[in-house]
Amino acid sequence: MEIELLKPIGYCNGVKKAIDLVNQVKEIEKDKNIYIFGSLAHNENLVKYLNDNNIKSLKYDIKELERLDSNSVVIFSAHGHSKIAEEILRNKLINYYDATCFNIERNNTLISYYHSSIPLIFIGKENHEETLTALSYSNVYLYDITNKIDYSKLDLNKEYIVINQTSLKEIDIIKAHNDLSKNIKKLNILDTSCGLIKQRLENLKKINKSTTIILIIGSKTSSNTIELYNQAKRLYPNKKVYMINSINDINFEINDLDYISISSGCSSDINDINEIVEYIKKQK
Ligand code: SF4
Repeated sequence: MEIELLKPIGYCNGVKKAIDLVNQVKEIEKDKNIYIFGSLAHNENLVKYLNDNNIKSLKYDIKELERLDSNSVVIFSAHGHSKIAEEILRNKLINYYDATCFNIERNNTLISYYHSSIPLIFIGKENHEETLTALSYSNVYLYDITNKIDYSKLDLNKEYIVINQTSLKEIDIIKAHNDLSKNIKKLNILDTSCGLIKQRLENLKKINKSTTIILIIGSKTSSNTIELYNQAKRLYPNKKVYMINSINDINFEINDLDYISISSGCSSDINDINEIVEYIKKQK
């Protein structure tokens, strides 16, 4: 049996940064109630770790921040947050820490730089935290990947900057760009997808020719894990492809002749992946 790990694997830089920050805040703010604004990552073990340490996740809604008392501390998640959220906490004299991922910060910087002079169109999913953050700025219009955009609300002769949610599927972004290009004359289109997700999708095209089984490790609630799984199925309709989160999900046969290629979503812990690899090695 051979096992190939498609790198990068495990947590992406954004999730790593957020987890490191949570651990630091836990030490610094020992006597406070710690809250995470939004979701830290789609990883059940991580959610359990937060629960065990009494760190609560708040719904991504600024009303949740208004309810907090002065014994609270807030960590803004990797997906970003609006400036209004910071203002609410400053007014309440509540300390906050920012785990916004570098890629998402770049989008927010672009929006805050341009929105007062050039309108922006944000391609995203309606209720995603990144979308809600983008829409908290004025002059930003949503192109929802399901419902598109209401063109009657736009001046179609104006120039627009187009950016997108970092985790969208390439096919959805291309469809949105094509649709926008048919309707608006002057578009300045920027691809603001996360390079780390793209790289993992690309790496699936380079798996070993002898591969018999492809394992995608990650939570079923993680959109980039699901996308990796779908990509593997599309690329290799004749190979066995499984999405698993732990050794408990291994309910298929593995034998000595198998060549196993493994990839993971961006919210998967390398320790969990190693545990799965060790378990598989024993299945001879
Ligand atoms: S997947 Fe990309 S954009 Fe999302 S947190 Fe990770 S590095 Fe940041």
